[in-house]
Amino acid sequence: MVLVFIDQAAGHIKKSSFEAASYAAKVAELTGTTAEAIILGTVADDLSQLGNYGITKVHTVADASLNNFDAQVYTKIITAAAENADVIVFSQNTTGKAVAPRLSVRLKAGLVSGAAALPELSNGFTVKKTVFSGKAFANITVTTAKKIIALNPNAYGVITTGGSAEVVPFNATIDAAKVTVESVDLVKGEVPLGEADIVVSGGRGLKGPENWGMITDLAHLLGAATACSRPVADIHWRPHHEHVGQTGLAIAPNLYIAVGISGAIQHLAGVNRSKTIVVINKDPEAPFFKAADYGIVGDAFEVMPKIIDAVKKLKA
Ligand code: FAD
Repeated sequence: MVLVFIDQAAGHIKKSSFEAASYAAKVAELTGTTAEAIILGTVADDLSQLGNYGITKVHTVADASLNNFDAQVYTKIITAAAENADVIVFSQNTTGKAVAPRLSVRLKAGLVSGAAALPELSNGFTVKKTVFSGKAFANITVTTAKKIIALNPNAYGVITTGGSAEVVPFNATIDAAKVTVESVDLVKGEVPLGEADIVVSGGRGLKGPENWGMITDLAHLLGAATACSRPVADIHWRPHHEHVGQTGLAIAPNLYIAVGISGAIQHLAGVNRSKTIVVINKDPEAPFFKAADYGIVGDAFEVMPKIIDAVKKLKA
């Protein structure tokens, strides 16, 4: 059996989990087995919908103490749920990054984190993954009986198959004393950055926090999340949770719009898995243009109002 961990936030399944479910279903098909899912915490969404992504059975532990993510408690429950699993799939997001390595130790299972493709089964179990902050690929052959894959967001896509999954409670022992994480505040923008389809991001080229209105205006119009380069967060123009890059959040939206950002390698490391990159920079030699699908050489203070007006007209 292939088991996929379904991540939830505030009672709703995260977008990246539908992709992980689709991927798990395909791995199950390739290995001649079925795909099942585990989800922790109380969830408002209809879980049988996971059948539409190829999942046959969803195991739930609907305990409110699991609504806040606690890596150790989650690992313990998923270890028990994975008893009969040959392959366990995560999305390579914050939860996956924290749980998959712990699970790997507990289950003595080989882990491929940052998987970029389906396993190749012609000669063992080999998975292509990104290395060096997405600059290169490595093929990892997993030789342990149990295998864990943490899939890069947007590496596979969401595939609907039709169907409805059976939803069953999973009997987990939760030791309340072991739940040591207490959530005191939820810090996020209107659209969570890690899950956003579109991200509008600003760099030092915007000159100061007072000019961020054009970033947030365009983001509101597009239903996008906002992000920034590291210096912008370091000098407190924007909050640190918006900082993307090697030392910040790694994101993979469908559309990343970079305004006044030079495109340093450390910044690209966090955004180069975006499907489409649009760069607005007044310097035609800015390195970001090499990574861009579309580039506008121009002053952000002239270009952005025009884009905002154009989007407003399109939406009118
Ligand atoms: P700048 O380099 O100052 O670039 C500003 C850009 O704006 C320029 O290209 C300029 O042409 C353009 N510009 C100026 N005015 C305008 C205008 N009016 N209109 C349009 N364009 C304009 N950085 C990150 O972002 N994320 C990280 O995670 C990260 N991690 C790092 C880790 C390490 C170990 C190190 C050493 C560095 C890291 N950095 C990171 C910093 C990184 O190297 C760059 O310094 C940083 O990304 C530059 O930010 P920036 O592009 O906003 O600013």
